[in-house]
Parts: sequence; C-alpha cells; structure tokens
Amino acid sequence: MIEGALARGLTYFAITDHCDKDCQVLPGFEYIRQIDLPRRFEEIARLRDEYRGRIDVAVGIEYGWLAAADPLYAEINARYETDIVINSVHLVSGEDCYLPQFFFSRTQRRAYTEYLQDVSASLDAPYDYDVVGHIGYVIRKAPYEDKILHYGDYSDLLDEILRKLISKGKALELNSHAEGTGLDFLPERATLRRYRELGGELVTFGSDAHAPINIARNYNIVCDALKDIGFRYLFKYKAHSPIPIKL
Ligand SMILES: [Zn+2]
Repeated sequence: MIEGALARGLTYFAITDHCDKDCQVLPGFEYIRQIDLPRRFEEIARLRDEYRGRIDVAVGIEYGWLAAADPLYAEINARYETDIVINSVHLVSGEDCYLPQFFFSRTQRRAYTEYLQDVSASLDAPYDYDVVGHIGYVIRKAPYEDKILHYGDYSDLLDEILRKLISKGKALELNSHAEGTGLDFLPERATLRRYRELGGELVTFGSDAHAPINIARNYNIVCDALKDIGFRYLFKYKAHSPIPIKL
C-alpha cells in the first residue's frame, strides 16, 4: 500500500485499518476476523521508519462504532499511539447494512433514518477520535434505483449531525469509495455545502482504498468540489492535530 501511495505521488499516507470491536461484542458477528493489533502497530512503525524521507506514513485506525464496544476502543486508544482515529458506523441498529437482509425489513426512509440516528449517537462516543468516517455509508449496498442519501430528505438529522461535529471539533471525511452509488464521494455535495454553511472547516480525504489500485481515487474531483463550495483547506492529521493543506 505504501508503494502504491508513492507511485501515485503522495507525500502523506495514513493507514487506517478497520478495527471491528463492534462485531466482537455483538452475537452473530463472530465470523468477522479481528485484526492482530500488536503486530499491526509494530509493522506500521517499522514501515514508517523504513520510508522516512520518502513519504510521511501516519498511524491511523478506523473504529466501527457500537456503544457496547466503547470500553474496548478506549482501551486501544490508551495502549497505542496514533496520528488519526476515524470513528465510523458500519452496523445499523445492530445489523450489517452491507447485507441485503438489512433492507428487506425496512423502507428506504426507515433504513436511512436508523443509519443517521446511529451516526448521531456515534459522535458522542466517550473515547477520543478525530474524524467521522464516510457519512452516507448505508447507501453503498442499498438496493434502490436512487440510492443517494439526499440532504433535502434528511435535513433535520443531518443538521443535527453536522452541528454536533462542528461543536465537537471533529473532521468530516470525504470518502471516495462510492462506486455504484451515483456519487464521486460520500457524503453527497449538498450535505458538504450545508456543513460549510454551518461553519464547518475540518475536512479530510479518504480513498478507503483496501487495495493499492484505489489509492487517492477521485482526489482531484474531491478537491474541486471543496473549492467550488468555498473550502480553502483540506486537512491531514499528525498526532491528532489537523494540519491544513491549501487547496
Ligand atoms: Zn468504514
């Protein structure tokens, strides 16, 4: 992945593997393999040193939020030094919204509302985090013709989320893993515009790559959208401090 980032000409690269303690504490999700944290942090530290001077490797992690997993994430934060922590919602009302069953028993409005309610709750996590991951994630596997979570349809909940995010000083992630959704990145532009209107400034870019070929996908599209909407900076994180990058 680091070689892939170098090949794309990146000078900063944050590695933010999933940490799925949400699946560990929820019955029925034992099949999700848990990451070997000690080995993983050791390996990234080694690679960060090996590549020093060529690319700035930041140590990150992405937590899959679930209230029952809060103490486990607090413990990980206390044990390992990181540059950036992303807090994300993958399980909605205790179900996996990547599976079709999630949508069988709900209307689209119900599915998206429950997702946004969980995102709102995740912002109150008692452990430290820097970034709110991929708002709109529920649409990735949604079976609808128009999958987009339109700001106008959920403005009350989205406003609540964006206001909370701003008051807590957390960053909004622009996530370019959005194939098949009709979007170039999550969240949808109207939501991003609203965040700016409300005074939001902290934005990060994540390609959520999972493979070298996807690193920095749609980066220029995201930067152009940010500029259009009136943002002047994108931020990267080092030791949990946002560092502005001029757009
Ligand atoms: Zn995620």
